[in-house]
Amino acid sequence: MEDYIQQLNVQQQDAVLYTGGPQLVIAGAGSGKTRVLTYKIVHLLCHGYEPWRILALTFTNKAAREMRERIEGMVGQATASKLWMGTFHSIFLRILRIHADRIGFKSNFTIYDTADSKSLIKTIIKDMGLDDKIYKPSTVASAISTAKNALISPRQYAEARDIMEADRRAKRPRLCEIYQAYFNRCFVAGAMDFDDLLYYTNLLLRDNPEIRRHYQEYFRYILVDEYQDTNFAQHLIVSQLCGDAHNLCVVGDDAQSIYSFRGANIRNILNLKKSYPDLRIFKLEQNYRSTQNIINAANSLIAKNKEQIPKNVFSRNDIGARIEVVQSYSDYEEAFLVANRISQLKMRNHDSYDEYAVLYRTNAQSRILEESLRKRNIPYRIYGGLSFYQRKEVKDAIAYFRLSINPDDDEALKRVINYPARGIGETTVNRLMRCAMDNRVSAWAILNNIDKYDTGLRQAAINKLLSFRDMIAEFIEMNRRGDDAESVARAIITRTQLLSSLISDRTPESISKQENLQELLAGVKEFIANKTEEGTESLSLVDFLSEVSLATDQDSDEVSEERITLMTVHAAKGLEFNNVFIVGVEEELFPSAMNCDTLSAIEEERRLLYVAITRAKSHCMISYASSRFRNGQTKTCSPSRFLKDIDPRYLALSAGNDFARPDSFINPIDNYRESMRPRVERTTRSTPSPFSAHSNVTPTPSSSPAGDEDLHSASELSEGMRIEHSRFGKGDITEIDRSAADVRITVEFDTVGVKKLLLKFARFKII
Ligand code: ATP
Ligand code: MG
Repeated sequence: MEDYIQQLNVQQQDAVLYTGGPQLVIAGAGSGKTRVLTYKIVHLLCHGYEPWRILALTFTNKAAREMRERIEGMVGQATASKLWMGTFHSIFLRILRIHADRIGFKSNFTIYDTADSKSLIKTIIKDMGLDDKIYKPSTVASAISTAKNALISPRQYAEARDIMEADRRAKRPRLCEIYQAYFNRCFVAGAMDFDDLLYYTNLLLRDNPEIRRHYQEYFRYILVDEYQDTNFAQHLIVSQLCGDAHNLCVVGDDAQSIYSFRGANIRNILNLKKSYPDLRIFKLEQNYRSTQNIINAANSLIAKNKEQIPKNVFSRNDIGARIEVVQSYSDYEEAFLVANRISQLKMRNHDSYDEYAVLYRTNAQSRILEESLRKRNIPYRIYGGLSFYQRKEVKDAIAYFRLSINPDDDEALKRVINYPARGIGETTVNRLMRCAMDNRVSAWAILNNIDKYDTGLRQAAINKLLSFRDMIAEFIEMNRRGDDAESVARAIITRTQLLSSLISDRTPESISKQENLQELLAGVKEFIANKTEEGTESLSLVDFLSEVSLATDQDSDEVSEERITLMTVHAAKGLEFNNVFIVGVEEELFPSAMNCDTLSAIEEERRLLYVAITRAKSHCMISYASSRFRNGQTKTCSPSRFLKDIDPRYLALSAGNDFARPDSFINPIDNYRESMRPRVERTTRSTPSPFSAHSNVTPTPSSSPAGDEDLHSASELSEGMRIEHSRFGKGDITEIDRSAADVRITVEFDTVGVKKLLLKFARFKII
């Protein structure tokens, strides 16, 4: 038997070796589903399958990259690079470029990102004279996205009585018209949004039997990871690509289905047998990732969900530590505790920062965590912040790149027609766009024949527009001549004065913008170099843009230096870390307030927590705060209902946990809080830190949260004293409560009212 097969358990081997028809590998977290997929590809390659005839679809670029690297290591780069492997969107984009003419597009179509889509929707709403408080652009955008993911065209939308009726009830009867207008404008602009990549691929395959047959014959094996999160469109495309050959291997875990808000349908996996009657189901049971405690805790949580395929998941790894459940007084304290805990574990375990992840429900939670990590000098990377390609100056340059390839791209044109400033005012742009809409053509078409249209513009404005047009025409010509991507990109950045307009400004922001533009050029160069190595012929800006438009924040900032990871639970899917900290496990946050109404919504939130816990290999901490600063005010919070779902045998609770039951009180982790206590207070208690027994970790004065000058001991304070708090502003101390071990002070703040603060964490100045 081949070497690689030996690296799998018997169940995994069965799944890898089976090539007799459609197969579903359904198994819990960490049981090796992705590993099976990876090894199966290697197995196919070793048994005569040509790499370009294998299609492997993943959910994120990161997952695709990791899988490719793994396979490269086993079969070599030359073979691995020929696989059709990537995210749904990137693979479909590749197919659409080849056959764009079949759906009425040119192969140089550009991609509208979310901001472009929103901007277009806003323009349409305004143009139709609708109230944007009722027709909120974000609501409209998500309605359009839902429709597209369900493969409903604007016409079908108009004919669907139930949908139209629902819109009427929601007081948005004209949503359908907006959808139609949006659809048309994208088409005229030669642009597709992210959902279109699925929508049009489906259309292409559905309406062109010869193309469908071509791919059915071409791909001899199709493999899909994370199938539980496919939506209707993806599900349908996969089955169209498969045809009757049925050489399909999908892996997934219904307990980890967490994307229903994007149209993912757990039924796709539950009903797979209906689509493929000869489907063989394989189960994997042994978890190789986590300790027994973590797996048992996660299992006990997910067992509370009604809708699921029964599964057995066990771990033979160490029993491991219990999951720590930590209660904090505030979000500020929570961030402080997490940062301290990371430092302690890091010193104790000597592992890499890469092995630490802090997971949260919403991106907004990251700011306060960042603050406390910075104070402790813990390097971190955030997934979900602005990616490189979303920075303003980079987007400006990319808009010019887009125009040089597809000048009909109205959103790109609007973005840069007067940037850097060239005296084309808003009124001029509005008139131009208005005229384009009325004539159902792109703004570029108007610019090219401006005399023929009644734009109502004065000659001076027209002249400026024409000189803009001439400049863009030069770039188009360069591309047409076949100039290489880097020289076109460089010419664009110079000729448009994007770079020189920044050079006069020596502020740090401006310098960083200049660096980003240089970085972008370096990116184009590098892209070409890599592609050339792979032997691909095309080196045009179109290819570069394809890659860029699908780059997600997950992909940027790939730095070699070790760092801890901050990300939402959604983004953490499929990943693993030694140490995982799940923060903000509170009612209305996790489960999200927006997802509390129905049983199925709650079940999805519970699956989300299951995903979060099962990312951890050896250590997991769950924390919740009693108060949190959200939406501009401090709110009282209560612990998440999910905490009670986890079998208390697998938890270690801190004293005073609100949801704690007497039988579950095991290991007061107050101890370790003690070890982090600022110096002024530390003498008041004598309990040693549990960590000092195992290591030499003793907190140093520099480990205090904010520098000692901001922290005060009770003896310095008296009632009536006036203070200035770092967040709440000025106020008077009205009470000092010394009855508990942790002194609390009550302060009447001038603007935010009365607050009780835990002295050991309160940062303020006495004024
Ligand atoms: P998730 O549901 O989170 O996506 P998964 O089922 O895809 O998880 P993998 O990521 O493939 O699981 O595997 C989890 C971990 O266990 C990985 O580090 C993997 O390398 C390891 N692993 C899986 N199977 C084996 C095995 N037979 N021997 C050793 N390690 C294994
Ligand atoms: Mg996986």
